[in-house]
Amino acid sequence: MKLKKRKLLIDQHDKYGMWGGKFGGNFVPETLKKPIYDLEILFSKLRNNQKFLAERDKYFKDWVGAPTRFIKLNNLSNHIGGAQIWSKVVSDANGGAHKIYNASVHCLLAKEAGKKFIVGDTGAGYAGKMLSMAAKKFGLKCKIFMGAKDIKRQRPNVVAIKKNGAEVIPVYTGSQTLVDAVSECMRYWVANCDTTAMCVGSTVGPNIFVKICGWSTSQISRELIVQIKDKFGSIPKRLKLYNCVGGGSSSYGFWSEFIRYDKRQVELIGVEAGGPIKSKKHAAPLTYDSKIGVLHGAMQYVNQDKIGQIDETESISAGLDYPGVSPLHCFLKDLKRARYTAASDEQALNAYKLVTKFENLRPSLEPSHAFAVALNEAKGLSKNTIVVVNSCGDAIKDKNILKARLGKNYDKLY
Ligand SMILES: *Cc1c(COP(=O)(O)O)cnc(C)c1O
Repeated sequence: MKLKKRKLLIDQHDKYGMWGGKFGGNFVPETLKKPIYDLEILFSKLRNNQKFLAERDKYFKDWVGAPTRFIKLNNLSNHIGGAQIWSKVVSDANGGAHKIYNASVHCLLAKEAGKKFIVGDTGAGYAGKMLSMAAKKFGLKCKIFMGAKDIKRQRPNVVAIKKNGAEVIPVYTGSQTLVDAVSECMRYWVANCDTTAMCVGSTVGPNIFVKICGWSTSQISRELIVQIKDKFGSIPKRLKLYNCVGGGSSSYGFWSEFIRYDKRQVELIGVEAGGPIKSKKHAAPLTYDSKIGVLHGAMQYVNQDKIGQIDETESISAGLDYPGVSPLHCFLKDLKRARYTAASDEQALNAYKLVTKFENLRPSLEPSHAFAVALNEAKGLSKNTIVVVNSCGDAIKDKNILKARLGKNYDKLY
């Protein structure tokens, strides 16, 4: 299958909801088919409705704070001494990360559908926190499903979710983490879909959730393409866009307007979480050629053992700690339109140190993975090459981990 230049990647799937005939789809129980179908109809109507688009743009501008900055990292560029290094500071967005785009759009859709309630799942708690923020803004009652184990280890986010007036539903089944929270949330949705909407926190899950999330985060590249043309007059001859990849929503959003360009002009580099150097575990199914399997209703490259059981992951970054990845990225990998690689925990920490030493920017541990690879590659490139890193999260949320890992150095840098 080939890429169609004029069509958005989110729409380049077949009638089974699959990209490249292989990835995505709707591997869901019969009972979920009806609510999914209703959501497909609603979304396909509203995404072309001028009033709805104006409403979305108004919230993105006045509440999320669009556009986020596009800045040159001069000191860092000089220190590295190769390509020009720039950053799209998506952590400027309300809540400190890109998850707010998807959460806002799901709330807007829920309102249009006349729903009074919205539910969502969360692992580390950020998707839950953002959904609870959006739900509060749009006047929806919100429940967040979260594994009991995650509730224990992600206290601050649990507190934040509750402060926003949302209810946290602990999930005690299975491994008591994200995987089980998603399943439990879907079960709840099936039973309550007449009154309740559901939000999936990344470009994963059944086809329609991949599409809605990708459509929402593509706000990032719609801003970026204008900002780049503004700064350089046109799209530079050598442009490299680096983004971390967990589920894949920030990277898809960062790239979507640029996928149609030739890869010799605009290269797309996705950086997964390689985990600790000393561990065999990782969260990098694309980099390490994991086998194809089904996770959360969709076919994808996913970390699994010999008999297809989902493997445990390990990463310093909670946001990237996911065994699977969006079908959109599986498709881009197969097409060789994007290149995927991994950074280890240690490399991400070093990149964090370097960025905060030279610049007034505090990338969270997720984008620090992208910085690690970008800075390493920028060294060998010419000044005419423009490297842009999506700084999609703010490190304030990683304060405790950074303190524990960097000790005294942390205070000097932060
Ligand atoms: C959740 C999260 C990620 C990973 O999710 P994607 O869907 O891959 O974007 C990355 N960065 C930050 C800051 C996050 O909160």
